[in-house]
Amino acid sequence: VKDDKAVVLLSGGQDSATCLAWACRRFKEVHALVLDYGQRHSAELAAAARVASMACVPVTRLEITALNQLTHNALTRASVVVAAPKGQLPTTFVSGRNVIFTTYAAIYAREWGAHHVVSGACQTDYSGYPDCRRVFFDALQTTLALAMDWPVAIHTPLMWLTKAETVKMMGDFGHLDWLAASHTCYEGLRPACGVCPACELRLKGFAEAGVRDPLEYVRRDGV
Ligand SMILES: [Zn+2]
Repeated sequence: VKDDKAVVLLSGGQDSATCLAWACRRFKEVHALVLDYGQRHSAELAAAARVASMACVPVTRLEITALNQLTHNALTRASVVVAAPKGQLPTTFVSGRNVIFTTYAAIYAREWGAHHVVSGACQTDYSGYPDCRRVFFDALQTTLALAMDWPVAIHTPLMWLTKAETVKMMGDFGHLDWLAASHTCYEGLRPACGVCPACELRLKGFAEAGVRDPLEYVRRDGV
């Protein structure tokens, strides 16, 4: 139903680029919101701008320096090593990120007169982030409606998809080229390194989908 407006949280990664394509197909007007919290992947922010321009959607970039000041994790502190200790959240978990991000998107939506927000959160390859679960978004949706007297539907189209299914979805939309502009590499490299855990996961998803990743890599195994 192309009858409404939606705000897409765009990080510059593969998932949010796919969400942008999903939203462009479903909604009449789409705006992208890019949130800068001084994340380790600053290459992501440049990627977000490229993807938004390929999609021809207006983009707003906000700085949330407070989130960086408050949190100590592998994405906000170079001294924190990426790890996933047993029984604990991974060190890449940013406390409160999705509650803050989605809340800003909902505020943007209300000011713009929109009732839809789109997040690329995904529970399928659940790495233990509590704020990637659908139950969290359901609760936040209720909270935001109460807080602002303005219902906002929080869409999470990738929530139950595998990486391979996400790649196929983008292929179905005919926008695989947008993924050449997206950024995934944990090392922040462009061309991407092809060997870090983030690159490996991305390449695995493409391999399983039987699609060649249009992104440039220094080296790649498989397709
Ligand atoms: Zn990499």
